[in-house]
Amino acid sequence: MEQCFQCIPCGRVVCADTDTAQRHLREGHGLANADQTTLLASLRLPVDLRQVKCIQCGRLFMGQGLSVALEHLNKIHGGNSEQLPNDSLLVSCRACGTRIVGGEEEFATHTTECLVLKKEMMTESN
Ligand SMILES: [Zn+2]
Ligand SMILES: [Zn+2]
Ligand SMILES: [Zn+2]
Repeated sequence: MEQCFQCIPCGRVVCADTDTAQRHLREGHGLANADQTTLLASLRLPVDLRQVKCIQCGRLFMGQGLSVALEHLNKIHGGNSEQLPNDSLLVSCRACGTRIVGGEEEFATHTTECLVLKKEMMTESN
């Protein structure tokens, strides 16, 4: 549950990336022409916003951190990286979709700057 989006209008849990969660709103709730802000306002965001996608096989790692994805890369695709290989793994923020290229540290920085997250916190404190 913590790694999933939840659709606020219908309560459905969407365990996928931001695009899939937004598609649910567009197709299921008549929000086909809604902008990003409206769509995100209708979603409860996952607690952990890290998303790593393996570019080679398309597998998604959500809320598991980079080390899990790195292990996948080394085991399944025969890599031997300690660092984040940006040509093999695509790390992004599940709230705003921004690509993170600098690993966990940059992600930590991003979560303090992410505009979508800030908005979320503001609406919650109201
Ligand atoms: Zn829904
Ligand atoms: Zn893979
Ligand atoms: Zn973000």
